[in-house]
Amino acid sequence: LAISGDTTDEQLGAGLRAAVRGLSFNVWPYLTSAGMVAIATGVSYLIEPIIAPSNLSLVYLTAVLFSALRYGLWPSITAAMLGVLVWNYLFLPPKFSMAIDDPQDVLALLLFLIVSLVVSNLAALKLRQSEAIAARAKTTTQLYLFSQKIAAAGSLSDLLPIITQTIGTMLNCEALLLFPAGDGLQLSAGHPQKRELDIVELSLAQAAMNGTPGSLAGRLLFMPLRSQRGVIGVLGVDRSLSQLLLPDEERLLSIFVDQAAVAIERTQLAETIDQARLEAETERLRSAMLTSISHDLRTPLTTIMAAHSMLRKQGEAGDPSIRRELFEQAENEAERLDRFIGNLIDMTQLESGKMKVNLGPIEVGDALESALARASHLIIRHSTEIDLPLDLPMVTADFMLLEQVLFNLIDNAVKYAPQDTIVSISASTGDGTVVIGVADQGDGIPSDATEIIFDKFARVRFEDRQRPGTGLGLAICRGFLQAMGGTIFASNRKDQPGALFVIELAISKP
Ligand code: ADP
Repeated sequence: LAISGDTTDEQLGAGLRAAVRGLSFNVWPYLTSAGMVAIATGVSYLIEPIIAPSNLSLVYLTAVLFSALRYGLWPSITAAMLGVLVWNYLFLPPKFSMAIDDPQDVLALLLFLIVSLVVSNLAALKLRQSEAIAARAKTTTQLYLFSQKIAAAGSLSDLLPIITQTIGTMLNCEALLLFPAGDGLQLSAGHPQKRELDIVELSLAQAAMNGTPGSLAGRLLFMPLRSQRGVIGVLGVDRSLSQLLLPDEERLLSIFVDQAAVAIERTQLAETIDQARLEAETERLRSAMLTSISHDLRTPLTTIMAAHSMLRKQGEAGDPSIRRELFEQAENEAERLDRFIGNLIDMTQLESGKMKVNLGPIEVGDALESALARASHLIIRHSTEIDLPLDLPMVTADFMLLEQVLFNLIDNAVKYAPQDTIVSISASTGDGTVVIGVADQGDGIPSDATEIIFDKFARVRFEDRQRPGTGLGLAICRGFLQAMGGTIFASNRKDQPGALFVIELAISKP
């Protein structure tokens, strides 16, 4: 077996292929053409009594025409030759001899031969043309199908098996895709399956990776996948010796290879960009988290430590009202710290998917009452306005989660709206849902930030960063509502400045 790579080997490979292709010579068209001549002979026997022997050439001409239209030049020439012999032997006087008595019959025979050859040629040309058109249509369809399939793949791990599978089934061959890994090549996908490559195959693949397509006796072909960045991988196809790739199939394969290279490069680039985006996002979250943790852990701790050291310095003798204020301050800050840590724990549980959700029928009023009680010391400088209809249906929710959502929203309303303003909480019945609104009288939310604020560590304005907060509250609200099958959206009030948060939860079925 010759391994191509240099010219002589390539020539040897091509020669071998041509020889094998020659071996697969199809005798069927010749047999059928002979059959058609036999039928023409039968018909001639039947009509012999009523027609002059020289005119029987028309019957044989019909057989030649059929053969030419169906099988092309050589089978129809064979039919013409056979026709001349049989017609002369059986019908032209003297019968059962190759001799011809009448010079007119010699002329008729010559004319038959000439007409047969011309007809064969024309018909064969027509056949070749229609075959070429059919082959082009098939190639176009296959290319279309191939590009459609590879366009549908989103990731490299989806794309590679699709390429090998499509090429493998369309060309009825084994298809392998190899990509550089370390010093060598690694098989990434294979049709019908992945398999170990032997040393010869590997060296051919390596040659293709270096830019020289390699073939083993025309049976095994390794082609480089070329992109603008150079050779990005290798496609190998393997067919058994009896079914070598036809020139048309080879052309199709080289187009497949080009298309596959473009698709692979495009997907690789998209994955690299996604990876870079993910890394940037992770980095942003990490630094936001560090800022948040350092700020939110340190501020309350500094206040607590300051209050504590002042209390120690003053001792029992200090002014009781100042002592009370200092204790209150320390307590408030400790609670803030507790809330912050609680938020972090909630977020971790949400992210790890370990959060337990106990869904059941819940009275919105009960959850709100509990949230307001917890937030009572936060809202001392604000007033609240509650509007819950008496016939408000129960919702499907988890009491603890709903209470935490309402608490976070009240906490924000207090934080982002000035003192002595009103926090309004209302509820109404929607279409199979209960709609809860939490509105404040602050500056509201910038219109382009109504979705971003639900991201982790999102803090919209510079001033917001000066206020205590983690940027986790709303992310937790959305996570909890999703877990309860509900929704939460942010907007601004229509009637006056201020933010409006709208929650929807399904009405609980009795
Ligand atoms: P935190 O309040 O700890 O910063 P949140 O996730 O609760 O975190 O809120 C994210 C951001 O959304 C806040 O930093 C703020 O910019 C904005 N925001 C939230 N609630 C309101 C509100 N009621 N009014 C105006 N802006 C708000």
